[in-house]
Amino acid sequence: MASRLQRVLDHIRSKVEDDDDLPVNLIEKSRKGFKFQNWAKVESCQPDRLFYPRCVQDVVDIVKLAADRKKKVKAFGAGHSPSDIACTDGYMLSLDQMNRVLFLDAETGVVQVEAGARLHEINTLMSKHGLAFPSLGSIAEQSIAGAISTGTHGTGMSHGIVARRIMEVEFVNGVGDVMVCSRDHQQDLFLSVCCGLGCIGIITKITIKMDKSFHLRAKEVPAQMTDLLADIPTLAESAEYVRFHWY
Ligand SMILES: Cc1cc2nc3c(=O)[nH]c(=O)nc-3n(C[C@H](O)[C@H](O)[C@H](O)COP(=O)(O)OP(=O)(O)OC[C@H]3O[C@@H](n4cnc5c(N)ncnc54)[C@H](O)[C@@H]3O)c2cc1C
Repeated sequence: MASRLQRVLDHIRSKVEDDDDLPVNLIEKSRKGFKFQNWAKVESCQPDRLFYPRCVQDVVDIVKLAADRKKKVKAFGAGHSPSDIACTDGYMLSLDQMNRVLFLDAETGVVQVEAGARLHEINTLMSKHGLAFPSLGSIAEQSIAGAISTGTHGTGMSHGIVARRIMEVEFVNGVGDVMVCSRDHQQDLFLSVCCGLGCIGIITKITIKMDKSFHLRAKEVPAQMTDLLADIPTLAESAEYVRFHWY
C-alpha cells in the first residue's frame, strides 16, 4: 500500500516538476500521457508530450523548446496515414486548434487557411462562396497540411495532386524560424515542404487557389477486370475523373 502511494506521489511530483520546467505559455497547451493511434489503428506511439498550439508563435516556442531539449518534433493532422509517418517519441503537435480560414477572395479563388483545417471544413465553407478544389481523394477527413505532406490525390489525368493547388506555405523550421515560400519565392524549398512527409518543418499557414464550384455527373458500370486492364490509358482519358474498384 505504502509503495503504491509512493508511486502515485512520485508520478504527481514528476508531472509537476516537468510542468514547472515548461515555459508558462505552453503548460496549458500541452499534456503528458498521450497515446497517438492512427485511423486504421495499426500504428501508435507515445510521445514525451502532446502540444496543441493556437498560433504560429506557439509553434515557434515549441520547436525552440524541442531544439533546446534535443527532442524530435512531429505534427499530425487527422492521423489518417496508414503508416507510422506521424509518430515520434519526442514532441507531437496537433494543429486542431489552428484551423481558421484567414483570407478568402471569391473572385480570384485565393484562400488562406491555417494548417490544421480539415478538408471537409474547407469544402463546406468554399461551397458557400462558389469555390471548390478541382480534385480530392476519397475522403475529406484529412487536415490540409497532412493531405499535402503526403501527396494526397484524387483522380483525373488533367488534375494534379492536391498540393498542386497550393500557392504559398508558411512553416516553422527546425530552429524555430518562420519561413514563407511559394512557387515564385524559394521554389525548391516550397516543393519540398509541399510533399515533405512532415520532415521539413511544421506547416502553419497554406494559401490555396480554388476553382469555381461545379457539378459532377457520375456514371458507374460493372466491368471484367481483364477488359479493364486491356486498355487503361483509353479508360483513364474517357472522362474528367475516372476510378475503379476491384472486387
Ligand atoms: C479511409 C482513407 C481514405 C483515403 N483516401 C485517399 C485518397 O483517395 N487519395 C490519397 O492520395 N490518399 C488517401 N488517403 C491517405 C490520406 O489522404 C493521407 O494519409 C493524408 O496524409 C492524411 O492526412 P492527415 O491529416 O490524417 O495526416 P496525418 O496522417 O496526421 O499526417 C500525415 C503526414 O503529414 C505530416 N503533417 C501533418 N500535419 C502537418 C503540419 N502541420 N506540418 C508538417 N507536417 C504535417 C505528418 O507529420 C505526417 O508525416 C486515405 C486515407 C484513409 C484512411
